[in-house]
Amino acid sequence: MSWEKYTYTQIKHKVFECLSKNTNYRTENILGIPGTFLDTDIFYDDAPFLNDAPFLSTLIANPNHIGVHTYGDEHEDFFKGTHEIERDLIKICAEEIFDAEAGQYDGYVASGGTEANIEALWIYRNYFMHEFHAQLHEIAIVYSEDTHYSIPKGLDLLNLSGIIIPVHSKTRELDIKSLEQQLEEALKNGKKYFIVNVNMATTMFGSVDDINKITDLLNLLHIHYKLHVDGAYGGFIYPFITNNNPFTFRNKNITSFSLDGHKLLQAPYGTGIFLIRKEFLKYVCTNEAGYVKGKDFTLCGSRSGANAVCVWMILRIHGSVGWRVKMHQLIDRTNFICEKLNEWGIKHFRHPDINIITIHSGFISTRLAHQFHLVPDNHENPAWYKIVVMPHVKQGIIDRFLSALKEEQTHISSISD
Ligand SMILES: *Cc1c(COP(=O)(O)O)cnc(C)c1O
Repeated sequence: MSWEKYTYTQIKHKVFECLSKNTNYRTENILGIPGTFLDTDIFYDDAPFLNDAPFLSTLIANPNHIGVHTYGDEHEDFFKGTHEIERDLIKICAEEIFDAEAGQYDGYVASGGTEANIEALWIYRNYFMHEFHAQLHEIAIVYSEDTHYSIPKGLDLLNLSGIIIPVHSKTRELDIKSLEQQLEEALKNGKKYFIVNVNMATTMFGSVDDINKITDLLNLLHIHYKLHVDGAYGGFIYPFITNNNPFTFRNKNITSFSLDGHKLLQAPYGTGIFLIRKEFLKYVCTNEAGYVKGKDFTLCGSRSGANAVCVWMILRIHGSVGWRVKMHQLIDRTNFICEKLNEWGIKHFRHPDINIITIHSGFISTRLAHQFHLVPDNHENPAWYKIVVMPHVKQGIIDRFLSALKEEQTHISSISD
């Protein structure tokens, strides 16, 4: 995994060069599109600092990245300059982070992990329907009980049924026995096609599903499936920390990934990334998108080019080496907290390659959890509270939290399970 680090000057130069290749609403004859630059009464474009602000300049120029720019030869040419930046961003994610072969993938900047996950489910549903004449009731989506709610949201929208696999309460590992039983049951009940969601870090626990165990079973049972990896949380950390990452495009069992720029990458909201092997986007081509040159394959339609530009800027200012260092710093701080929790016998879950610690509610008071804004698994009757060691979680706040936690340990009678 390797992509070059650029200096701020190089980044600025590249973004302004690409912006100048876009059609300019201010200087060119644009009569046909229902888009323009941002309202000038509030976002005036002659603010002097804009010359040094490539992201804000892109935001104000307001390029539309509608459609997918890795696919086919026909694209909207109004904004071809910044489309080029999006292509480089998708290339870094697909080829460098997830080891795809050059040109063997498509991808785009979606509104978030939710959209990217639903895009995947939508593609596979249509794939089974078009290629195998599957009926809706013959298709099921398989996912663990720790899966993000965007998957059940997607199956509601797409009219598909779900098969929810329980996890072990301690390890948060998917119960393989139960997976096997439920698959056999589903086959008996007429399900023939399976869309499998595998988590490369869950939202609440940061647990990572054992993909090899899951695919070994699916392949052994000759299950007809397509597999999506939800890396919305883990996408920008797990591949940088773990050894021998099984979640890459070299793994033939995987067809697509989603990841979020607006979590660990510190990009603004609206920066999910969807990646999929070539030859799959066509199942969600909206032919009725007549006015979009190159057609549309996304769920969202119009989207801001500034989102793609800023994710690209973040990846480029760090380079692969810098990004790995930054993620290791988060892991180091997470390790520091876990060492104390272990020492004090505080029951918690933590995956070693992820910066989430989930503390059992019997080992922390509600008051302390609220004071430090820990997030519960549910607000009615919390069983767990999580700490996410984000870049703002520095040693000072960690120390204050830990000393408060230690203080109250003497008052809480520990619960055993
Ligand atoms: C956050 C998250 C999502 C959804 O992402 P949004 O960006 O909120 O749409 C999906 N899956 C996982 C595992 C997540 O952590």
